[in-house]
Amino acid sequence: QAKDAGRNTQRFFDPVMQETVLARAALAAQLRLGLERGELDVYLQPVVDAQGRRVGAEALVRWRHPQRGLVPPAEFIPLAEQNGLIVAVGQQVLETACRQLVAWQADAATRGLTLSVNVSARQFHQGDFVRQVLDTLQRTGADANLLKLELTESLLLGDVDEVVRKMRTLRARGVRFSIDDFGTGYSSLAYLKQLPLDEIKIDRSFIEDVLGDANDASIVQTILLLARSLSLKVVAEGVENALQQDFLVRHGCPYFQGFLWGRPVPASQWAPQAA
Ligand code: C2E
Ligand code: MG
Ligand code: MG
Ligand code: MG
Repeated sequence: QAKDAGRNTQRFFDPVMQETVLARAALAAQLRLGLERGELDVYLQPVVDAQGRRVGAEALVRWRHPQRGLVPPAEFIPLAEQNGLIVAVGQQVLETACRQLVAWQADAATRGLTLSVNVSARQFHQGDFVRQVLDTLQRTGADANLLKLELTESLLLGDVDEVVRKMRTLRARGVRFSIDDFGTGYSSLAYLKQLPLDEIKIDRSFIEDVLGDANDASIVQTILLLARSLSLKVVAEGVENALQQDFLVRHGCPYFQGFLWGRPVPASQWAPQAA
């Protein structure tokens, strides 16, 4: 009896599991500190048109961890979403992105480029989200028309009226909206006509095997038709090779993002348009 209880207790305090909990708590504490110390960096990945001309970029956060080096977002964004730090992370990324837009505006070679910023559901649902975005635009002097906010379908599962209200307020000031990872979420398509959207981004998972998998090819073609008939811009994500690019061009895709056109790089390495 006692032995069993002991065994159960031991199982409950599984050392591996405990280590994970501790590691996550430690990482969260380090992230909080890292935020204050300016360890977050924003990388830029180009978005190009069918002629390969750069029309803008996506801002992608990186964490320069003092011991672990560059930590990709997949390793700390989910954690930050759970403990609420995502609000501060998102605000810092937005601030950096807006300053980048101002720097681009000052140079003839980069003037007019748009910058897309990922917004997590928790960040968007904050009561003061709209105010934060407008304040940041004003404080930095960035042109709202060049800022795009990428939302995911999961964000729309909440209070649709609230989402529409917030989007309309920002859209009225010039801010554009994009649906990220389109096709992977659970929401209904009805939102596409309800929301003031500018663009949808076809998820990388459909592009990856678009030449080898007939279902992926059908899905991509359908999204392209849908976007066209709703007058939405569309960006294919994760374009890695010329065959994928050719397929997309043949089916009328107007914008592309992926390693074929450039990996995410620190802002200081953002090269002028290749000739
Ligand atoms: P996402 O918004 O869909 O961003 C695109 C991701 O695909 C980026 O990964 C990018 O590096 C990667 N990618 C682009 N082209 C290719 C390609 O050709 N092949 C492959 N294999 N991958 C490609 P990254 O930077 O690791 O970001 C992952 C996700 O983390 C993002 O997906 C986004 O959901 C999230 N994220 C990144 N930055 C932020 C941020 O500032 N705030 C929030 N809330 N989420 C962010
Ligand atoms: Mg994105
Ligand atoms: Mg995406
Ligand atoms: Mg995403």
